[in-house]
Formats: sequence, C-alpha cells, structure tokens
Amino acid sequence: MAGLEDLYREIILDHYRTPRNRGELEPPAVSAEGHNPLCGDEIRIFLDVRDGIVTDVKFSGSGCSISQSSASMMTSAVKGKDVAQVRAIVRKFKNMMTVEEDTETPIDESLTLGDLEALQGVVKFPVRIKCATLGWNTLLDALDAAKA
Ligand code: ZN
Repeated sequence: MAGLEDLYREIILDHYRTPRNRGELEPPAVSAEGHNPLCGDEIRIFLDVRDGIVTDVKFSGSGCSISQSSASMMTSAVKGKDVAQVRAIVRKFKNMMTVEEDTETPIDESLTLGDLEALQGVVKFPVRIKCATLGWNTLLDALDAAKA
C-alpha cells in the first residue's frame, strides 16, 4: 500500500502548492469564515449559488497543508454541482472522516469521492480531522448563508 500512500501524498501536496479556486467572489456571492484554533487554520469560503447550482466557489485563508489542500479539493469537487449533490458530497466526505453530525442525510453509496479519498489517511491522526473538515464545515455555513 506504500504506492497508494505516495499517490495520496502527491495529490495533497499538489493541491497545497497549486490550490484550485483560490481567491474571493464579489456579492451577491455569500461568504463564511471558519477557524480551527487547535492548529491555527483559517478558511473563508465564497459561494455563488444560482437556481440551485453552485456556479462558483472560491476560498481564501491560511493554515496547514491539510486544511488548505482539503479546501482546494472541496472546491474542485462541488463547483458546478447542484446543492443537493453538494450536500451529499459533504455528507460522504465527513462520513469518511468519521464525523457523523448529520445523520439525517442518507449516505449515497453510489457516490465516489475520487481524489478526496487522498485525505482518508488523516483519520489515523484524530487531531488533524478538524484541519481536513474545516473547509467543509465552512462550506455548509456558506450554503446556509445562501439559503441554499
Ligand atoms: Zn491544520
């Protein structure tokens, strides 16, 4: 399994060094801020939802490689999806991260997380789970701000 772990490390480093969708969006896009005081991570998510579709999403902030690469991967995974799909991806990702707050949304067994599975190894380091899920929790706040 060493090969797979190397691949996963490469994916995480690639998103850290070359973040996708980094930046800000002007209103009417909404934004939400998240902090992980345990590690000092800060993430701000900008979200543009039109007719139930996440037409654009960007993030800014600073922090450890896990928090920033997870946010980058998250934006890549949800951009262009409808809100129900986005919530399903969040649900599945947090389930992979062993964070089970939203037990009302069923887990979509057919959904594949693709590159996001690179973050699965973080589960072995419980203190880093908050780093990996910070951008995702902030995305949920932004969805609430967008009333989507
Ligand atoms: Zn962190």
